Amino acid sequence: MSPGLRQVAVLGATGSIGGSTLDVIARHPDRFRATVLTAHSNVAALAELCTRFRPELAVIADPALEAELARRLAAAGVRCDIASGHDAITQAVSGTLCDTVVAAIVGAAGLDSTLAAARTGKRLLLANKESIVMAGALLLEALAAGGGELIPVDSEHNAIFQCLPGGRPNLAASGVRRLILTASGGPFRGRTRADLAGVTPEQACKHPNWVMGRKISVDSATLMNKGLEVIEAHHLFGAAPDLIDVLVHPQSLVHSLVEYVDGSVLAQLGNPDMRTAIAHALAWPTRIDAGVAPLDLAACAPLAFQQPDLDTFRCLALAFQALRAGGDATAILNAANEIAVDAFLAGGLPFLGIADLVESVLTELPPQAVVDVQTLNERDRMAREAARRILRNAC
Ligand code: NAD
Ligand code: MG
Repeated sequence: MSPGLRQVAVLGATGSIGGSTLDVIARHPDRFRATVLTAHSNVAALAELCTRFRPELAVIADPALEAELARRLAAAGVRCDIASGHDAITQAVSGTLCDTVVAAIVGAAGLDSTLAAARTGKRLLLANKESIVMAGALLLEALAAGGGELIPVDSEHNAIFQCLPGGRPNLAASGVRRLILTASGGPFRGRTRADLAGVTPEQACKHPNWVMGRKISVDSATLMNKGLEVIEAHHLFGAAPDLIDVLVHPQSLVHSLVEYVDGSVLAQLGNPDMRTAIAHALAWPTRIDAGVAPLDLAACAPLAFQQPDLDTFRCLALAFQALRAGGDATAILNAANEIAVDAFLAGGLPFLGIADLVESVLTELPPQAVVDVQTLNERDRMAREAARRILRNAC
């Protein structure tokens, strides 16, 4: 392995962020090598990626599919180690096969591997926002203990990272007045509650500007995604909830802004393509080509900004409420939301029911102090159980 070559573990390689990451890696074989690839259950897609990228290790989360993965890789003439199960992903992250980890598993399932990357001092490219929403303080502790660095991949946080001096400084000492997260508003921007009563998963997943996995697409439609991002910004940048604002910006060209006390507002702009944030995070502090078309501002429609409608999109208000409540409230919010989104995608919950279910679970489980990962996982389990029970009783 040549010196200076980053060895990258791509967790969630078969997903939307995973695919964009591998696209950037493929453009720079002199700088990056995908040494570990993981997926949940799409064994065909994982085998294909292994054929193309020739990692040292492929991990499939579902143990029942390990033999099938081995069969496919043998048939394709790919020689790499194969492992399966949740813990195998965490072990792969902790070992010597990678110095960089792209955390792009969706949901709380990514928590253990995100924490392992932080604990072992790897460069952590964080896309899996649910893990920081669940366990923000624990993740920051693990990062400090491991001595590695976290570069945000979520486009808003990557934008803020780029607009702050030195990445993650003390905000007050740096003259920062506010962080402003932009939101596209999702596919239902401008709709009323009455309009939203009967919307379908297909409508909710049709994002106007970004192509993403189904869970984050629904989160974007409810604005829970922005709520999770407010919590993420709080932890990543040490910003109090009152210092974080959300502005709806339908074009998704301004990815977020930082306002300073002298009146300056710095923004990061670019076409809505996650490869920009991923390339920035992979190469930081240098810059590399991401394969993204240059932004032609003159050709763009006028840029618009407006306040979010918190009465219609209640999930954003609930996320602020959970953040202010403190303790493990944001983990409860996240768990309830994951169950609600699954139920909506399966046709078992109306769109507006997502916020109702999250609110009911938050009411049923008042916040407790975060002690350690074990208790947090137990609270996550309790919140999922409460959400499933409320769903069953509603039927
Ligand atoms: P996706 O659904 O397209 O992909 C998810 C990946 O995670 C897949 O590779 C899947 O195999 C894997 N996975 C799912 N469940 C798993 C489990 N239990 N164990 C192990 N692996 C599992 O999702 P995505 O859109 O790529 O999003 C991934 C993460 O990045 C999410 O947390 C999302 O919020 C965040 N994110 C995505 C975007 C985007 O543009 N897609 C932007 C910002 C942040
Ligand atoms: Mg985002």
